[in-house]
Amino acid sequence: MSSIVIIGAGVVGLTTALTFREKGHEVRVVAAAKGQETTSAVAGAVWYPFRADPPARVKAWALRSREWFIGLARDDPSAGVDVLTRYELVDDERVPWWAEGLPDLKFLKGGFRGATRFAFSHIAPRAESAIHLAWLEAKLAHPITLRRVASFDEARAAVGAGPGATVVNCTGMGAATLANDRAMQAVYGQIVVTEPGDIDLRESHDDERDLEKLFYSIPRRSEVVLGGCAEACAADRPTTTTAAMTEAILARTRAHGLNPGRVIRERAGLRPYRTSGVRVERDASDPRVIHNYGHGGAGFTLARGCAEEVCAMVDKTL
Ligand SMILES: Cc1cc2nc3c(=O)[nH]c(=O)nc-3n(C[C@H](O)[C@H](O)[C@H](O)COP(=O)(O)OP(=O)(O)OC[C@H]3O[C@@H](n4cnc5c(N)ncnc54)[C@H](O)[C@@H]3O)c2cc1C
Repeated sequence: MSSIVIIGAGVVGLTTALTFREKGHEVRVVAAAKGQETTSAVAGAVWYPFRADPPARVKAWALRSREWFIGLARDDPSAGVDVLTRYELVDDERVPWWAEGLPDLKFLKGGFRGATRFAFSHIAPRAESAIHLAWLEAKLAHPITLRRVASFDEARAAVGAGPGATVVNCTGMGAATLANDRAMQAVYGQIVVTEPGDIDLRESHDDERDLEKLFYSIPRRSEVVLGGCAEACAADRPTTTTAAMTEAILARTRAHGLNPGRVIRERAGLRPYRTSGVRVERDASDPRVIHNYGHGGAGFTLARGCAEEVCAMVDKTL
């Protein structure tokens, strides 16, 4: 089995590490930051392919990840994954591209909480990000090497791997610099985390008919993530929150008939969107490097499917 170096300890890097470990590979992870310091920790992390392209590949990765998450929710509660019912408000009965073939998709005619003419529902696993990231990290055989690297050779050297080791680039927005990728586009999002109040912890809600007033509610095990916004921005935009956005999110929540409890904290992050599609491929100029970044607003939704594809690329060449 070969030696694999993974750059990045967000959900994409750690899921890729786990997938390689399961296949018996020797894996080392180097990352500038981990846990709460990553974008992944900000996510409500419900299964739903928001802001990720291209549709055909995204759908396949998402469906595979969904199956994996549902199995985890059943078999290992310590992974922080639970299965919720996700409701999305819509204007008509068109099935969205990513939902075609979902066996549990249901259209709710005649309105939903009085807010619209139509809604649909489906089963959606949700990973509680802090628990899930810690669970993934605990599966590593070696501690994460905390270092920002400026090249793939530096990543190998940082973990003591030889020059032939395969490097998997899971750096999210960091790929804009590390892979010099001009297609990377940061998309700012803010969330408000509240006590549950009257919100049912088994249901997630989404309304993106007007992206200027984007709304979602994603329960964790004892709190609720409310959002949000999706603003294309510079890659170095600070991830600070604003009181105005907090107020707007709380007002949208109430307008959707949901009554949250006390505000616990607010957070913001930059979704690592790639305008030319999620990059899961070998580097054309250096076949020892495989890229796995640009998952936009769907890193959790796609992580396992992408990781398995990366792993298959390596296994095929052994
Ligand atoms: C508000 C918000 C809500 C979201 N909600 C959802 C949701 O409900 N469902 C969903 O599926 N997704 C959601 N997302 C999207 C999801 O968070 C991202 O797609 C996901 O976190 C991307 O994971 P990643 O591992 O690629 O990136 P990150 O979590 O950013 O991790 C990147 C890693 O690479 C490291 N790194 C970067 N550059 C370097 C370097 N040069 N050297 C060493 N290390 C480096 C970083 O330190 C970090 O460890 C949301 C995002 C936001 C902001």
